[in-house]
Amino acid sequence: MIDKNGRCIDYLRISITDRCNLRCIYCMPEEGVHAMRHEQILSFEEIERLVRIMTGLGLKHLRLTGGEPMVRRGCLELAGRLHGIPEVGSISMTSNGILLEGKVCEAKRSGISSLNISLDSLHPDTYSRLTRGGDVSRVLRTIHEALDEGIQVKINTVPVRGYNDEDLTEIAALAKNAPLCVRFIELMPIGCGGSAQRILCPEVMKKLEDAFGKPEPDPSVRGHGPARYVKYPSFQGSVGYISAVSHEFCDNCNRIRLTADGQLKLCLNHTKGIDLRGMLRTGASDEEILSAVRAAVADKPARHAFYEKISDHEDRYMNAIGG
Ligand code: SAM
Ligand code: SF4
Repeated sequence: MIDKNGRCIDYLRISITDRCNLRCIYCMPEEGVHAMRHEQILSFEEIERLVRIMTGLGLKHLRLTGGEPMVRRGCLELAGRLHGIPEVGSISMTSNGILLEGKVCEAKRSGISSLNISLDSLHPDTYSRLTRGGDVSRVLRTIHEALDEGIQVKINTVPVRGYNDEDLTEIAALAKNAPLCVRFIELMPIGCGGSAQRILCPEVMKKLEDAFGKPEPDPSVRGHGPARYVKYPSFQGSVGYISAVSHEFCDNCNRIRLTADGQLKLCLNHTKGIDLRGMLRTGASDEEILSAVRAAVADKPARHAFYEKISDHEDRYMNAIGG
């Protein structure tokens, strides 16, 4: 459907849990967060019902996220259920990749056609420091499994000054040697993101141009988001840049988010949205939910307001919003 700013909204990110097996320094505090209670979280039946209703508005591309989606038991079963809805065009997942090790084939069978895997360093020590304890070798094995299965792979890398500055060209080189896409995402001042220091995309582009030569725009990468893709000479895959802090990001925004506790969020950085869990649990009909979603999406905020004072500023951690 088209919002009041003329953007076509066809992409729904579904966070199925706020829990995570890692504690990335820019996402969650070391001690963890007060996790949602079981009854606060939407059941798989509730998620499936909402997706059936929302496909009626043209939301056809789905992404499962979290927290870490693979932490929730039955995550791949849910993917299979959503894949069974005829109007659903594609299902993808964003994961840190650790618990997907050995399960990529099952993910493919359940209908997942692309995986975004977060990877901020190839070095075991740096990866462990950034994620507070993660084992990078498991992530790399998952990436290889996905490539072997022919699943589309995008690597999400958040450049953080003082942590992975020197690792960025090496991560980009994954796209030189394999047909995958490496995306650099500017750190956003959400959750713990405000206390880490971002490296902006132009600086990363300069490093990569020095290392690999001048890139060409790559319009061939299929994506449902605001990344700009390029191809460096002799690369099999592509490199994407997501300048999250610039408003160009918002002008191309095509997405809304369903949080694990059933709130429909219209923008990453605004709390404005609707309590769909409340509607589901107080007996709202499909038509009532559909028209509430239609009205909310039409009124999607034009842009984030990371550095402005707004009345509905989002102050939850990224694991609760879904990234
Ligand atoms: N646990 C999964 C993962 O890490 O891929 C899915 C959820 S995570 C919140 C989704 C994405 O958000 C990850 O790629 C992560 O790097 C990114 N992210 C988390 N906090 C961020 C921040 N403050 N700024 C930019 N990206 C962030
Ligand atoms: Fe967990 Fe993903 Fe947040 Fe890292 S970015 S703490 S893996 S939810």
